[in-house]
Amino acid sequence: MEAVESPEAGPEDIESLTVPESYRAAVLLKDEQHMFDGVRAANRNPAKSLHLADVPTPMPGPGEVLVAAMASSVNYNTVWSAIFEPVPTFAFLERYARTGGLAARHDQPYHVVGSDLSGIVLRTGPGVRRWRPGQRVVAHCLSVELEDPAGHDDSMLDPEQRIWGFETNFGGLAELALVKANQLMPKPPHLTWEEAAVSGLVNSTAYRQLVSRNGANMRQGDNVLIWGAASGLGSYATQYALAGGAFPICVVSSPRKAEICRQMGAEAIIDRSAEDYRFWSGEGGQDPREWRRFGQRVRDLTGGEDVDVVFEHPGRDTFGASVYVARRGGTIVTCASTTGYLHEFDNRYLWMHVKRIIGSHFANYHEAWRANRLIMRGRIHPSLSRTYPLEQVGLAAEVVHGNRHQGKVGVLCLADREGLGVDAPEFRSRHEAQINRFRERPGSMDAAG
Ligand code: NAP
Repeated sequence: MEAVESPEAGPEDIESLTVPESYRAAVLLKDEQHMFDGVRAANRNPAKSLHLADVPTPMPGPGEVLVAAMASSVNYNTVWSAIFEPVPTFAFLERYARTGGLAARHDQPYHVVGSDLSGIVLRTGPGVRRWRPGQRVVAHCLSVELEDPAGHDDSMLDPEQRIWGFETNFGGLAELALVKANQLMPKPPHLTWEEAAVSGLVNSTAYRQLVSRNGANMRQGDNVLIWGAASGLGSYATQYALAGGAFPICVVSSPRKAEICRQMGAEAIIDRSAEDYRFWSGEGGQDPREWRRFGQRVRDLTGGEDVDVVFEHPGRDTFGASVYVARRGGTIVTCASTTGYLHEFDNRYLWMHVKRIIGSHFANYHEAWRANRLIMRGRIHPSLSRTYPLEQVGLAAEVVHGNRHQGKVGVLCLADREGLGVDAPEFRSRHEAQINRFRERPGSMDAAG
């Protein structure tokens, strides 16, 4: 680690390092992809399926880069992968491999997961010009082929678009990672490795979903309802709303998360646990009285106004309420269905009040770069709450699966302790309080951790 991380190490020093034939990685095993068959998703434990294993090092092909991964993070897609829901990710890898060429390498008996990293460029493949060994980088998770014209307006529309470390192999929860060169972005120099690692996926997603014209195209003064406002995606959406002159209405499930939202600068906060909204009546249907109670609460907080944009991702549990509370002409922008993807809502509130539902998925390179730039400039901050060593990645995923976390959960890979990697200490000192506001108080997240 020291040899790679030394600030004095130039490209030649990094290139002279021998790349190991194998490396330690968090893997799922193809042999075990049916281990949870018959078990409800909520009862599937990622700690049982995620293993630490030595796997062979893939050498970078044309346009690819091998990165020494200092840190990574647990995303919800890590949870989906590890509980084999909605399908085992080996199906994605096999499909990708069938496209031939370099893609064939992705079908292995193991899947190295992880869709975030911070690290140092170790080797570049033929044709890579922008990046060179020794550069400190973060990665976004859009893996795209761009051989089809459809992807050249917005690369999220490319038919060969995949989420790296979820729909591809050789992901970031490992000591080494293989990425396409156009996944790399500069590491924000004021952040530690673990702080830099946690934002790539959720920050880019929140940027496109809320700010980009491909998403809700949020405007100054908009009322933005944000579900999970102090969790992964929501912690960035809340910051975008505040930084962009909008009024976030933050929905959370605990006093601690409500306090974090206040620290971020939000004033309108709803603790859904304390107020006990039951949008589903328990008899298989939804209860519009609960939508109205929720809508009245929103109006109480906004001085009688309705919501311009709903930042949706819980899905089935909340979608009916989200469609109801959006104002006439308002937007519901969704990127996920954590609680179930078969949504139900009263369509009369959509068509008669001329609302729009927009689907949003990750971000193109330009959007990811713009989102990373805002972190570099100290406008958006990582929401890291706790960091686990790579050996405990299963526990880290279990904590996220159980919603026992806040903000983002980081994982140390080659970095052997927290706090390393800061290259701009003076700039950092100006933002220290914001960087630390998600930090977990000892013992409050997970006794086992
Ligand atoms: P996360 O950190 O676990 O946050 C999700 C939050 O949603 C929870 O912490 C919880 O916040 C809230 N929530 C959960 N169940 C809820 C319910 N029944 N009602 C209301 N709120 C509920 O996960 P994340 O990283 O933000 O990801 C959220 C979802 O988005 C996942 O399904 C993930 O796969 C997806 N995602 C999609 C993309 C994409 O590109 N399409 C990108 C990133 C993530 P409180 O308990 O505080 O209310």
